[in-house]
Amino acid sequence: MGVEGVYARTALYVDLVERLEQYITRQRDPQAEVLRFPPVMSRTQLEKSGYLKSFPNLLGCVCALHGSEAAIRSAVERYDNGGDWTSSLTSSDLVLSPAACYPVYPIAAARGALPPGGLKFDIEADVFRHEPSLSLDRLQSFRMREFVRIGAPDEIVQFREQWMARAPRMAADLGLPHTMDVANDPFFGRVGKVMAVSQRQQALKFELLIPYYQGAAPTACMSFNYHREHFGQVWGIRDEQGEPAHTSCVAFGIDRLAVALFANHGLDLKKWPAATRSALAL
Ligand code: AMP
Ligand code: ZN
Repeated sequence: MGVEGVYARTALYVDLVERLEQYITRQRDPQAEVLRFPPVMSRTQLEKSGYLKSFPNLLGCVCALHGSEAAIRSAVERYDNGGDWTSSLTSSDLVLSPAACYPVYPIAAARGALPPGGLKFDIEADVFRHEPSLSLDRLQSFRMREFVRIGAPDEIVQFREQWMARAPRMAADLGLPHTMDVANDPFFGRVGKVMAVSQRQQALKFELLIPYYQGAAPTACMSFNYHREHFGQVWGIRDEQGEPAHTSCVAFGIDRLAVALFANHGLDLKKWPAATRSALAL
């Protein structure tokens, strides 16, 4: 679409994505509450979540012309005269969501004490990360589906373990070669290196990796994240014992999974392996 890492989707692609989403839906906990978020979220909420400490370089902020009519007109005139209108932009109260799950924690917190057994969500958003790249597996705008669990520590650990056991079976269903590995987020800067090491040492993030073609370096297509009490503390979510709730999210990189399917099986869906076709109801 004229910018690196931003793509229009064809009918073939969109149809496959819909089937992939339905396949994921069939794996979902029947009690999970479904929420779909727009591609933008509250800037204040994301700031409070600590995003600027971890990934300020990836964040996109929505800016607008907030000035008087005269000020806005003069910005447009600057553009008409070959100048730069964007210097008149100032930030709004929105950011582009960098992950699907950030808005769910304040929503859960607003409901008061956690119900027995905690909360389960199925959420999705089109997200943005400022990481322009020529390669098809690193987009700036992509779809993220997530299963989120909020509860007591033992519930959260069990949730993540259950998904880490199920995900390889899903990849096998889809006929995709895969490995599971401990991982870290790309925390920003020098301090970020220390955060990444600590995240790995505590095994707080795992990824399911899929090579796009034989011999390719594998690409992370799902992640299994344990945030411990971070969001519970930030938003004041308490478990039944009155302790800060623990949280975990399982993220499906929908575009990475879709590209992995096309890259491994080809563009002719009729020629895909029988097991894959059956899993996707093709
Ligand atoms: P993360 O929060 O980084 O674990 O991201 C969750 C999932 O989103 C990853 O496992 C990927 O499948 C997907 N993802 C992350 N970054 C990108 C990107 N730049 N382009 C496409 N998919 C991505
Ligand atoms: Zn998440």
